[in-house]
Amino acid sequence: MKTDQQTFCPSAQPDWQGAKVFGVVGGTPDAPETAYLATPAPVSDELLKLADPVAPDEVFRIAAPCACSGCGHFDSAQSSCTLAQKIVRWVPMVSESLPVCGIRSECRWWQQEGRAACLRCPQVVTRNLMPTDAMRDAANPELR
Ligand code: SF4
Ligand code: SF4
Repeated sequence: MKTDQQTFCPSAQPDWQGAKVFGVVGGTPDAPETAYLATPAPVSDELLKLADPVAPDEVFRIAAPCACSGCGHFDSAQSSCTLAQKIVRWVPMVSESLPVCGIRSECRWWQQEGRAACLRCPQVVTRNLMPTDAMRDAANPELR
């Protein structure tokens, strides 16, 4: 898989190379809210065990180099992330100010969509068992 080492996905899986935890999902199941870490922490077995008994991507926000064409959300022609585009178009804002986020300078969603992505980002859960209709549609790579 050819990744972009300079550009990070803010909805990555824990087993991706270079993965680091940059947020912890709190809130409620139907209104999740990410608390961003001041300093992202490299993924380790010990860290992932803290998610027990649920899957790490239910409670951790994890960043890793964007998978680019290895990801179903990547538009190779535009070199862009359609997931970020759809979240900005379809999902409502949940913040009025930019979250303090430890990966902003390298985040693909920020680089591509700017502030509009960050104002929606706190509600993102990588493994979301109770997505809103808008979030479910945004996460469906078949919908553009
Ligand atoms: S294309 Fe988007 S969703 Fe896919 S890995 Fe890259 S940033 Fe993440
Ligand atoms: S979209 Fe914004 S808040 Fe979310 S991870 Fe990227 S820089 Fe951080």
